[in-house]
Amino acid sequence: MFTPLDWISHVTNMLVGQAQTWVFVTLVQPVLYHFHWMVDDDFAYDGVLWFLAGLLQIILVYAVLRPLEALRPLEVWPDRRAVRVDVLYTLINRLGLVNLVLFFTLQPVVDGVQAWLRLRGIDNLNLDSLWPGVTDRPLVTFFIYLVVLDFAGYWYHRLQHQIQWWWELHAVHHSQRQLSFWADDRNHLLDVVLQAVFFAALALIIGVPPSQFVALSLLSGALQSLQHANTALSFGWLGERLLVSPRFHRLHHAVGYGHELGHQNNARLYGCNFGVLLPWWDILFCSADFTTALQPTGVRAQLPPPQGQGEDYGAGFWAQQVLGIARMLRRIGGTVASRRIGA
Ligand SMILES: [Zn+2]
Ligand SMILES: [Zn+2]
Repeated sequence: MFTPLDWISHVTNMLVGQAQTWVFVTLVQPVLYHFHWMVDDDFAYDGVLWFLAGLLQIILVYAVLRPLEALRPLEVWPDRRAVRVDVLYTLINRLGLVNLVLFFTLQPVVDGVQAWLRLRGIDNLNLDSLWPGVTDRPLVTFFIYLVVLDFAGYWYHRLQHQIQWWWELHAVHHSQRQLSFWADDRNHLLDVVLQAVFFAALALIIGVPPSQFVALSLLSGALQSLQHANTALSFGWLGERLLVSPRFHRLHHAVGYGHELGHQNNARLYGCNFGVLLPWWDILFCSADFTTALQPTGVRAQLPPPQGQGEDYGAGFWAQQVLGIARMLRRIGGTVASRRIGA
C-alpha cells in the first residue's frame, strides 16, 4: 500500500536526485575536468548528496532556531563574536568535508574487513530481520537503529568525560561560554574522526542501510542543534524525559556542575546528562539531572582565579585544535609520569 509517507519520500528523492544531478553536471564535473582531478564519478556524486543534505539542514536549522534565539534568549550577550568560530565548525562538519576525507581513507579498510568477514562466513548483524513483518517495516527499523545508536552514543559520551586524555579533546566542545545552536559541531578534529569511525563501523555491523544512515545523521544533527540553542524553550515535564531538551543539555555544559572531572558537588564524579537524543539512558544509569536553574556554561579552568586558573582554550579554530592536542599530550605525559613515580 502506498502511504502518504511513501509519497513524501518519493517526491523528496526525486527532487533531491534532480538537484544532485544538476550540481554534479553543472558545477562539479567541469571543475574536476578543468583541473584534471582524477576523482571517481560515483564518489563525487555521493559527495554532492552529503553536501546538499547538509546545506539544506543548515538552512532549515538557521531559519527555525535563529529567530527563537533572537526572540526568547536565555542568556543575553553584548555581542555574538565568540559564536563565529562555531559557524565554521558547523560548515566543515555538516557540508560533508570530514565525511569526504574519511571516505577516501577508510573505504579500503572497510572493504577489506567486510571481505575478510565474508570469507569466514560471518555476515553483518541485521537487526531488521529479528521479527519478520514487524522489525522490517521502515519506520520500525529506523526507530530501532536510532535507539541502538543512541545507547552507544550515551556510553561513548560518558567515556569522553571519564577518560582523562579524551576529556581534553572533548573540552573543546565544552569551552564555549556563549552556547548557541551553532555549538554542536564545535569539536576537536581528532575527536570528530574517532566518532565518525566508531559510529560508521557500528552502523555497518548492525546493518543500517546507507539511506537510513543519512536520515539518522540528519535528524540527529538537527535535534542536537536545538539542544544547544540559547533559548528559553521548555519541553514540559514529560517531554524533557522523552527527548533531550535544550535545558537538559545546557546543564551538561554548566561550569562546575554538568561535566567536570572529579568535582563532588552533586556526588557524580564526571557530570550528568550525557544523553545524545534520548535522556532514558541517563535516567536508567543514574546520571540524569532535571534541575532547572540557569547556570553559566564553560570549563572551570577557563575562569579567572580564584575559581579557575584563567586557562586559555583558544578563540580561533586552529588555536582550539592545537591547544586541545597539547592538553591531551600533557595529560598522557602526566599519567605516565605518575605511574613511574608510583612504581
Ligand atoms: Zn560532554
Ligand atoms: Zn553539547
